[in-house]
Amino acid sequence: MKETVENVAHQIFFDICEKNPTDIDVFFLNNIHFPKIEYLPSMTVYFPLPKEVNGNNIYEGIVFSDYEYGQETIWNLFFASICHAAGHAKITDFNKYEKWIKGKNEKKAYKIIEFIEDIKVNNFLEEYFPEYFQEINKINETFKIINERKRRKRNQEYAKKI
Ligand SMILES: [Zn+2]
Repeated sequence: MKETVENVAHQIFFDICEKNPTDIDVFFLNNIHFPKIEYLPSMTVYFPLPKEVNGNNIYEGIVFSDYEYGQETIWNLFFASICHAAGHAKITDFNKYEKWIKGKNEKKAYKIIEFIEDIKVNNFLEEYFPEYFQEINKINETFKIINERKRRKRNQEYAKKI
């Protein structure tokens, strides 16, 4: 297999979640901005690929004008997305919320599920992949700073979507 970004990411994803690659569809796409997971009927994960436009790197809606710094940050963000999504693939079982979700506002219910499951994902990564977890924390800090800067500049919220 060629050592493309997609192949490396694919490998990391399945190393973490320990699922069979035939059970989860993983897509790397150019035309989406944020990573996304669909749990039902079967798990499908979508990751955006970094883009290059006019010499700028663009990832998750953020333009990185400093090429080298941008490349490194983008790779870190991409890596964090892979680890996070793989954590969901490992521990998030949507079926167990099926009864609970009935009659509830779907959007709010999903937010609550995501909140609970994110805590579980972080605990899982911290326990079993402490080196990855440390990296992810560093990246999240960078992400927060970038977001805050962007928010101030454009008064527009960027949020991680998974
Ligand atoms: Zn999540």
